Amino acid sequence: MGIDHNVKILRVPVPTPTLYPHTTTNCYVIGNQRESILVDAGYDRKETRVEIEKVVNTNGLAKPKSIILTHFHRDHAPGVRQFIDWSPVVFCHDNEKQEITEAISPVTHLSFLKDGDKIKVGNTEIIIIHGPGHTAGQLNLYFPYEQILLAGDNIVAEGTTWIGPPDGDMSDYIQTLNRLKLLKLTKIGPGHGKWVDNPYEQIEFVLSRRLHREKQIKSLLEEHNQLTSTQLTEKIYENTIHPSVFIVATKTIEAHLIKLIKEGVVFEQNSYFSLQDG
Ligand SMILES: [Zn+2]
Repeated sequence: MGIDHNVKILRVPVPTPTLYPHTTTNCYVIGNQRESILVDAGYDRKETRVEIEKVVNTNGLAKPKSIILTHFHRDHAPGVRQFIDWSPVVFCHDNEKQEITEAISPVTHLSFLKDGDKIKVGNTEIIIIHGPGHTAGQLNLYFPYEQILLAGDNIVAEGTTWIGPPDGDMSDYIQTLNRLKLLKLTKIGPGHGKWVDNPYEQIEFVLSRRLHREKQIKSLLEEHNQLTSTQLTEKIYENTIHPSVFIVATKTIEAHLIKLIKEGVVFEQNSYFSLQDG
């Protein structure tokens, strides 16, 4: 019990070529000289293997015996292919069984983790948290003694977590953030960017930004009676975003609209969104 000082929790940023502004994805190696695990496997490139192997070797850690994937996205999962010769057991949440299978093929054998599962590396205890929102099967790892959370893409320290259909769900995301902020935390290991040393501020910052956006949508619908998601996006972002990300921004607005529809605040008719009366 207690903190196993022998076990290291190491952030390994690996290059991610495609996702602006995410120029790296964080993988995490957790372990000691006898055993270790890898959280996320990054993009499927040689550099991923090189970076992770370097950290494993320089810290004198055992080769990871398992890989836990926070989610299926191409900057987190397909790098599993780079580690086939380590014969790791690959874990994910079974909500993403199909997507992960596609992302890491030809590796086919998967094991599943669910909310509340406990695993151990050395004497360090890790509690698995199922935190849907960014994706339906997003897995987070919580170290209760160290009070550390590895948050996958639920929290990023660079850029913004993208929440949009079909992968993401804004209601789930808000719920997940409200749950994460109840944990005892000293720091968060994000999916992208540096360790977050002000975990509660960061979670509140993300929550308030989302709620601000929601308020904006509601007041625009109040003002204009009915708008399409494209019109809402134009009004909200005006000329502040590059045309290349307009579709992504529209999807984010749609994620908010889906949440508001679920809550009975908004309704949709022929692609036009309006506030419910009262
Ligand atoms: Zn992602």
